[in-house]
Amino acid sequence: MQILKFGGTSVGSAERMKNLVSLIADEKPKIVVLSAMSGTTNNLVEISNALYVGDVDKANGLINSLEKKYEGILKELYSKESSLKKGQELVKNHFAFIRSLTLENFTAKREKAILAEGELLSTAMVHFYLEEIGIHSVLLPALDFMRIDNREEPDLSLVEELLKAALEKHPLAKLFITQGYICRNASGDVDNLKRGGSDYTATIIGAALNAEEIQIWTDIDGMHNNDPRIVDKTFPVTELSFDEAAELAYFGAKILHPTCVLPAQKRNVPVRLLNTMQPEAKGTVISNKLITDRITAVAAKDGITAVRIKSTRMLLAYGFLRSVFEVFERYKTSIDMITTSEVGVSVTIDDAKNLQAIITELQRFCSIEVDKDQTIVCVVGNFALEKPGYAFRILDALKSIPISMISYGGSENNISVLVKTVYKKDALMALNKGLFGL
Ligand code: ASP
Ligand code: MG
Repeated sequence: MQILKFGGTSVGSAERMKNLVSLIADEKPKIVVLSAMSGTTNNLVEISNALYVGDVDKANGLINSLEKKYEGILKELYSKESSLKKGQELVKNHFAFIRSLTLENFTAKREKAILAEGELLSTAMVHFYLEEIGIHSVLLPALDFMRIDNREEPDLSLVEELLKAALEKHPLAKLFITQGYICRNASGDVDNLKRGGSDYTATIIGAALNAEEIQIWTDIDGMHNNDPRIVDKTFPVTELSFDEAAELAYFGAKILHPTCVLPAQKRNVPVRLLNTMQPEAKGTVISNKLITDRITAVAAKDGITAVRIKSTRMLLAYGFLRSVFEVFERYKTSIDMITTSEVGVSVTIDDAKNLQAIITELQRFCSIEVDKDQTIVCVVGNFALEKPGYAFRILDALKSIPISMISYGGSENNISVLVKTVYKKDALMALNKGLFGL
């Protein structure tokens, strides 16, 4: 079994939906995971936000225009009157359901129900299109098998059990279509895997079924060695290890959902990143094959705040770091980078929501400096730690850029430096030149 995931732009118009069908219409058994049409989840978020503040008029306006958009797409998608009717019935029912939630006292539970509508629509629309052109497919409701537990983590063994039971009902079917992103939580309510979570759906399904391969189809020809939006010359990396991919996904290579590598890694199912615009291109394969002794790629993460914590009490003391970390823990703020000296520790966070409260607590026993607008530039690879030269090559490439933190040795896959965001472009360009000769 193969799992193929297509994102919002791949189902973003009637034409793109038809193009997608040409990519899935062979005889190989597969489960196709679809996102909502691009823009839809954002629209649903806007509708929910209006409802949270009680602006029902605004919500209704947004709902009406979204419904109009879908009505237009149906006309482009279907050529038979019977399929158009089915599509219209579908859209009418789903929008009636959304309107039924525009009541006062809007809740998170209702919001989640609204957010699920985008994927429910896109999958049914593609399923009806397949039917129109004579390709048999089964629409597999993700809400019947995708589950998260009470820590909001996917419940892999339950998913496996429910999914296998759902598939067994269709022993002859080869093509299954299901919704990305949406799931049920431990209370059985409709929930989701967070924004961009359709990738996660695909890797959870792939892991649950021990699939042959998980394919993530996007508009880019795989994971690149550097950020193509910032530097001119980049190239797709043909092979990545799961560890490298996890580092890159977290550090800003927007192509993959950061946690989605984990289920595939756990069950050792390769993940292939492919391009709908260039289906014959090789893309990137993520697997457990280790290529040690190499620098693979560079990525950057903006919006970082550095907190520099100093105390004379740290000198020769134990327990100091614990009291610092406990403050961050109390405010559920995760720390990304850490560097220490004999009298201080600097950490970075990407969520500064509770920063003021954290500083106030830390100031009871340390002095604090905060640097905002920082960027983590991270070099990912499979470094052989016993081999000399990696740190030198990286710092040599960056020799003309002010660096405010360096982290090396946390794993064999990552060397990170912190720079002011204004230096990010220069840093990425300098590394492209120094490490890849581009
Ligand atoms: N539709 C959801 C989103 O826009 C999930 C996804 O596309 O991956 O976040
Ligand atoms: Mg995505």
